[in-house]
Order: sequence, then C-alpha cells, then structure tokens
Amino acid sequence: MDTPQEQIVILGAGFAALTAVKTLRKNRFTGLITMVAPRAIFSYLPSTIWIPSGMRDREDLEVPLENFFARFNVRFQAATVTGLNQEEQQVLSDTGSIHYDRLLIASGARFIQKLPGIKEHVIIPCDGISAGEKIRDRLAAMEGGTIAMGFGGNPKEPSAMRGGPVFEFLYGIDTLLRRQGRREQFKLIFFSPAAEPGKRMGPKAVKGLLREMDKRGIETHLGHKMKGFAENRVITEGGEFESQLTLFMPGLTGPAWLADSGLPLSAGGFVVADQGGRVGGAEHIYVAGDSGSFPGPEWMPKQAHMADLQAEAAVKNMLSDIAGRPAQHHFKVELVCIVDSISTGVLVYRDMKRTFLFKTPLFHWAKLLFEKLYLRGVR
Ligand SMILES: Cc1cc2nc3c(=O)[nH]c(=O)nc-3n(C[C@H](O)[C@H](O)[C@H](O)COP(=O)(O)OP(=O)(O)OC[C@H]3O[C@@H](n4cnc5c(N)ncnc54)[C@H](O)[C@@H]3O)c2cc1C
Repeated sequence: MDTPQEQIVILGAGFAALTAVKTLRKNRFTGLITMVAPRAIFSYLPSTIWIPSGMRDREDLEVPLENFFARFNVRFQAATVTGLNQEEQQVLSDTGSIHYDRLLIASGARFIQKLPGIKEHVIIPCDGISAGEKIRDRLAAMEGGTIAMGFGGNPKEPSAMRGGPVFEFLYGIDTLLRRQGRREQFKLIFFSPAAEPGKRMGPKAVKGLLREMDKRGIETHLGHKMKGFAENRVITEGGEFESQLTLFMPGLTGPAWLADSGLPLSAGGFVVADQGGRVGGAEHIYVAGDSGSFPGPEWMPKQAHMADLQAEAAVKNMLSDIAGRPAQHHFKVELVCIVDSISTGVLVYRDMKRTFLFKTPLFHWAKLLFEKLYLRGVR
C-alpha cells in the first residue's frame, strides 16, 4: 500500500510506540516517523520482577534504540512532552514544539501518589528499573522483619490498576528468601483494599492466588480502605501493621501533560478513544497502550500485550485515514499473563469467551523465552 508522505509523530518509546513503528513500516508507510521520548532507550518493564533476585539487571532490560531507529528509519527527538496545540498540529515539549500530520499518543500512564506517606515510606514496585534495584538493595541489607506488599486502584476508573506484578514480587521474594535460607526471619504480608484481589484475572485466579499465599505462609490484610503509610507502618481503615519494607502499587492515571491538551479525558484521566484508537473529536490523533481509555470489558488490562494490540489497530486506522479509505480496525481484548515466582509460573488467559489458568514450571521458562524473543526484535 502506498500512502502520501505525511509526518507521523509518536509520543513515547515503550511497547505501544515500538509496535506502532513496526506496523507502519510493515504496511509500507514510507513517510517520516518521529519518535519523541525523554531517552532513546526501551525499558522491558515486565522483567523488573527478576531484579531483586539478581536474575536480571539494568543492562539486561534497557535497550538503546539506535539500531531500531536505523532499521526502521525513525527520527528521534529527545524531549518530554508538556502539552498540545491541536489547532496548529504541534506537540509542545521541553525542547520546543514539533509539527505532526498524524499523532499517536503512547506515553504510558503514571501512578496516583495521593496517599499520605506514599512518597517517603513506600517503593512503588512498577516504577521502572530503579524500583527493582531499590527492592534488591533493601532486601540485601535486611536481616529480618516484615515486608508488606499490596496494590490499590483508581476509584474513578477500575481498569486503571496493575496487580499482577505485585503477586510476582510477592512470590518471587518468598522464593528468594527460601533459597537464601532466611525465610523464617521474615514475615510477609499481602494487603489490598479489595476483598478479592486479582478479580480481573477471573474468579478462579483469586482463589488460586490466595491459596498460594496460604501455602507460602504469607499473611493477608484484605478489604480495608487505605489510609496511608508512616515509617515502618501501613495504615488502613481496618487497622495498621508494622512493615520494615513496604511495596505498594497505587492506581494508575493518565500522563500529566494531558490536563490542558483539550483532548477528551476519561474520569480516571486517560485519553478517550474508540476500539480502534481514534480519539473522539480530535482529528488526526490516535492513542494506544496505557495512556488510553477504551471501550471494553471492565477486566480489560493495562498490559504490554494490550498496548501492542492497540498500537497495531490504531496505526492501521491511521493509514486508512491517510489514504482516505473508510476502515475500522478493532483491537482484540485479551488478558494474557504469566504470574512468575522465579521457579514456576501460572499462565492466566482471559478473552470475551474463556478464562483459564494453568500452572507449571515450564511457564517460568516460557516467560524467559518471550523476553528473549521480544528484546531480539528491538535490538
Ligand atoms: C514490573 C512490571 C511487570 C509487568 N508485567 C507485565 C506482563 O507480564 N505482561 C504484560 O503484558 N505487561 C506487563 N507489565 C505492564 C506493561 O509494562 C505496560 O502495560 C506497558 O509498558 C505499557 O506500554 P505503553 O507503551 O503504553 O507504555 P510504556 O511502556 O510505559 O512506555 C511509555 C513511554 O512514554 C515515555 N514517556 C512518558 N512520559 C513522557 C512524556 N511526557 N513525553 C514523552 N515521552 C514520555 C516513556 O519514557 C516511555 O518510553 C508490567 C509492568 C511492570 C512495571
């Protein structure tokens, strides 16, 4: 397919952004692609869970993108987006403005950090590679004590949460302490304001996750609204408990720069789009990945896999729009994840028809293999 030479600007250098580039070139888009992100580096976030055990470090998970840009003919602009001028089709950034003919927003999500004490007393385990490193270093320095791990949500948008990795850190740290022969010096507590944590993975998943905690001697504190954190304490409406190391994953919200962008935003702060990534009422603008709020079931995950599916659909619609062809590509809604515990893994699959779970050590190896193949495609 030959398309007119338009300048496509992609915000972000994560899963959705890279898939968008690959899809554009695969569909023979020959025009200019400009990617805008603070650093020309791709971070493979799902493997952050293996940093505390030393299985992975920063060098393994951060991929410089120079080769990718050369291979797919991408112009990179190192900048942090600060706003949007829709009338003049300009992205505003800390290094100046950038013109676009078509724009794909793929700049991820951020964490709601409103709970008292969250900035001082908590590590947010999904806050990038450095969070994994902090957990690794704190664990190594501890001789014993209580480690509390939990997650919350965005009350205004139930799908804007990330729980899976918290279970992975929980089981991974339990396995690590056992391997190090010092598990009995630690008390592990899992806490969540939800009475049924992990419900979006299906009702079977909740039972399985809680059974696994019981088997591993992990205490639970569930169904109590969070009040905040203090030094060595987690405080909820259902009481408080001691914790020398607290990992808490708060709910997600959209990028801060969206606030004055004039784009339609959901209650939770994300860009509202249709199931093909087209942003309603904003011509020439598309969204994919964690930045978007899309129609679909309440369990639709904010995941790398969904980000990839959304980016493919958004880019195909973008190309149809450029060519003036009426087309509507919809992304498939699918939850696929392997909840890993360093030694084994549980595959959780959910789509509109089925939900199933399957546990075997092979899934730990499958997760490693997937990482390898994905990163090979980026390098
Ligand atoms: C520990 C952990 C484990 C996970 N496990 C899994 C898993 O097993 N399976 C799975 O599918 N998903 C998993 N995820 C979720 C997955 O990583 C995210 O859903 C995915 O990264 C979202 O992709 P994205 O492209 O929307 O955003 P991101 O990958 O977050 O990329 C956002 C990009 O935007 C850039 N950016 C941010 N702000 C700006 C700005 N103002 N201007 C310009 N650029 C900006 C960032 O630098 C980054 O390059 C996990 C996440 C974590 C943290």
